[in-house]
Amino acid sequence: MYRLLLLCLLSAACSAQTTQQPIEQPLGFEEYDPVSTLKVPEHKLTKAKFPFIDVHNHQGNMDAASLKNLLQDMDKLNLQVMVNLSGRGWGAEEASTKFFNDAVSSIRANSPKRFILFTNILFGGIGKPGWTEEAVKQLEADVKNGAQGLKIYKSLGLNVKDSNGKRVAVDDPRLDPIWAKCGELGIPVLIHTADPKSFWDPMDRYNERWLELKLHPGRRRGANDPVPWEKLLTEQHSVFRKHPKTTFINAHMGWYPNDLAKLDSVMKVYPNTLVEIGAVIAELGRQPRAAKKFFEKYQDRILFGKDSWVPSEYATYFRVLETEDEYFPYHKKYHAFWRMYGMGLPDSILKKVYYKNALRIIPNIDKSQFPD
Ligand SMILES: [Zn+2]
Repeated sequence: MYRLLLLCLLSAACSAQTTQQPIEQPLGFEEYDPVSTLKVPEHKLTKAKFPFIDVHNHQGNMDAASLKNLLQDMDKLNLQVMVNLSGRGWGAEEASTKFFNDAVSSIRANSPKRFILFTNILFGGIGKPGWTEEAVKQLEADVKNGAQGLKIYKSLGLNVKDSNGKRVAVDDPRLDPIWAKCGELGIPVLIHTADPKSFWDPMDRYNERWLELKLHPGRRRGANDPVPWEKLLTEQHSVFRKHPKTTFINAHMGWYPNDLAKLDSVMKVYPNTLVEIGAVIAELGRQPRAAKKFFEKYQDRILFGKDSWVPSEYATYFRVLETEDEYFPYHKKYHAFWRMYGMGLPDSILKKVYYKNALRIIPNIDKSQFPD
């Protein structure tokens, strides 16, 4: 049988026959974009059901004109309070204090209730005598001047080096006084550690993020670059363990949105942690039943976050969280070549995820902007 088939495939007669058929050449994964023929009820949402707080946003301009533009987009989405995690901007560390101070004044002058700043740590010079004391002092000053939280970028663990050129681990003891100070000041630490595990895996046909690695080759890593993925997460968890009095928001669901049983085990051990869902809604939307159970269990410890500021993409988040729609598209093929299913969360849980949990752990947000 096989031999016959092979003969046919190889024979000129056979191939002549196939060229007469209007069959497309083999189609590449990147080109394949089938139009779904499935007819099911659709509830496309452009606005959240309740006003919400986006705890994971990045803005590089906070001047009056930028805030005015942002507010227009935010109102359309029902985004009531935006947390700009890049409180010290994206530029050189020397320029970051000016950025922070300007941003605080602009928010106070233009829209004090709608924007929040988290500050950042200036890692330059870590290891030099007095660095830790200086960093703690800076943090205290920033909080006094208006910062309502601390954001730690994924560079800690991946790129940050000390004055001897050595990688600074996420749980480096030189950072302990910083985490402790956040607990003392009553501000949360939103910490992003590592990236999706697939970035450390071989870029082959079995890798779910193959397309992302092709489009963004800089995201690809060797198994030990700079250390194994698991090591980074272990370091992060050790910070949670060492600082039980500090509240941590584990960004991107701690990179376990595709293994909620594992995330459950982490959250059980570290009650001082919450998670936010920035950039991982595609993981929840492919397992709506398991995700809903997880949201029921951890309804007090999940926050809404989005990360990249593309207003049109919020629609996918609202639809996965709020509706029971089936098999609807995600907005980026390189995150998800699969389709989404809604979790249909009840109002009581939606309110917690959209704003109640954030109001509880981030200080000084005006609660009158939100329903009970
Ligand atoms: Zn981010």
